[in-house]
Amino acid sequence: MLRSSRHLWSAGRRLCRAASSAADPPSGAGPPAGEYDVVVSGGGMVGLAAAAALLTDPVLRDYRVTVLETATPPANKPLPDEFSNRVCALSPATRRLLERVGAWSHVERFSTTQHMQIWETCSDAMIRFENLEEPEDLAYIVENDVICRALRRALEDAGGEVAYSSAVSEIHLPTVGAAPTDDQVRLQLADGRELTCALLVGADGFNSAVRRAMGVRTLGWGYGQRAVVATLKLADGGPANTVAWQRFLPTGPLALLPLSDTRSSLVWSTSDADARRLLSFADDDFVDALNGALWAEHEAAPAVQWACDATRGLLGSLGLRSPSGPVQLPPSVTGLVPNSRAAFPLALQHAENYVSRRAVLVGDAARRIHPLAGQGANLGFGDVSELTEVLSAAAARGGDLGAPAQLAEYETARQRASAALLALTDGLQRLYGTELAPLVLLRSVGLQVCDAVPIVRRLLMDRARA
Ligand SMILES: Cc1cc2nc3c(=O)[nH]c(=O)nc-3n(C[C@H](O)[C@H](O)[C@H](O)COP(=O)(O)OP(=O)(O)OC[C@H]3O[C@@H](n4cnc5c(N)ncnc54)[C@H](O)[C@@H]3O)c2cc1C
Repeated sequence: MLRSSRHLWSAGRRLCRAASSAADPPSGAGPPAGEYDVVVSGGGMVGLAAAAALLTDPVLRDYRVTVLETATPPANKPLPDEFSNRVCALSPATRRLLERVGAWSHVERFSTTQHMQIWETCSDAMIRFENLEEPEDLAYIVENDVICRALRRALEDAGGEVAYSSAVSEIHLPTVGAAPTDDQVRLQLADGRELTCALLVGADGFNSAVRRAMGVRTLGWGYGQRAVVATLKLADGGPANTVAWQRFLPTGPLALLPLSDTRSSLVWSTSDADARRLLSFADDDFVDALNGALWAEHEAAPAVQWACDATRGLLGSLGLRSPSGPVQLPPSVTGLVPNSRAAFPLALQHAENYVSRRAVLVGDAARRIHPLAGQGANLGFGDVSELTEVLSAAAARGGDLGAPAQLAEYETARQRASAALLALTDGLQRLYGTELAPLVLLRSVGLQVCDAVPIVRRLLMDRARA
């Protein structure tokens, strides 16, 4: 339908881009009224990645793609010296996607995680991942803003742009059996502009309006928890800060992600009431509470200690010794970057369907997951890879991008990937949210087995890097 004008349109876009500064991020309030092949609603990390992936795909690169984003254009300023409090642990698979779409080279700063220690308060069971045999890193810690800046630049390099100040206010999806002239998505923006497209990508976050327009229900529940985030100052002159630490407290997991030798990022999931208490503390009191939570030693229940010792003995007699050694202590936190504390409510939410006629969900619009496994954005980037592959194959066959058959392929693949991770993170959150001795015993024995049996360790590491 749109192919005759596609080449002219995209050449025009590239010329416009060439005329503007290479350092400027695209900041157009955008002229999106008109006809598109694909409209992405939502210019967060996942929506930007979706548009960049489509426009850098060899088959799809001349398609008409735009991103609509409610927010105003980001200020065109250099990156601040101090780290932001919102960061993501990106998997190597996500890094490969960002490389493919030309965004990784625009990532202005990141840190590399080479080790990860997971331990708890109710027993001395622990697991430590390190990549001694293979050169690949475990994860990359990148600020959300830095990821978005890099993706905007990649999008710009590919001739695309984000239409900021463009809230989608009305969505009309075609009905099954619609006449060919009506078989398209019609969108209205808050300021009255109108667009049509062959495929609408809902990347508009966990409160997705696209999902509502699709009539898709969600399953899930709130955890009654909030993630308290902050940028932490560490003592100068310590060892290189390359370890990600996660300690399970009965109130929820507490994670420290390395940013630089003197900074780490905190994600401390805890009850709503405790999060409010932590936010109300003066900085010094907060730091004391945090160091206490990281360092405090607790005596394990005798039955748990006995089971841990017995498991260790049994595994040892089978020649399966933990390569992790004793629990190591995380760095001491010396302060907070001023005003870097904030809290975010946590919930599990899963869309019953990811696709409907001419519409598809990606990222948090499709599912929302507890941050304990650091996988929400990684799952969203996985959606982007799968969707691009499916649409590229459809376009190569000369097919219709919004046709149900290929969208169903996307849905099956991504629901399979999501279901496993949602179940795992929800299970871990429940298993570690209790001090009941039988459950502490069960999880402690399980963790020791995971730590000592090489194939299980390998499976867990591969899962984290996928
Ligand atoms: C504390 C915390 C720590 C986390 N840590 C990690 C981690 O280490 N690793 C990881 O992989 N994930 C992590 N996550 C999850 C990750 O942050 C999310 O999965 C990710 O931000 C989702 O991105 P998104 O683009 O799908 O949605 P969003 O970031 O919510 O973006 C949606 C965008 O859509 C726009 N929008 C909404 N409605 C409209 C509309 N009507 N019209 C136009 N635009 C609209 C919004 O303005 C927004 O920009 C963490 C989450 C939390 C809370």
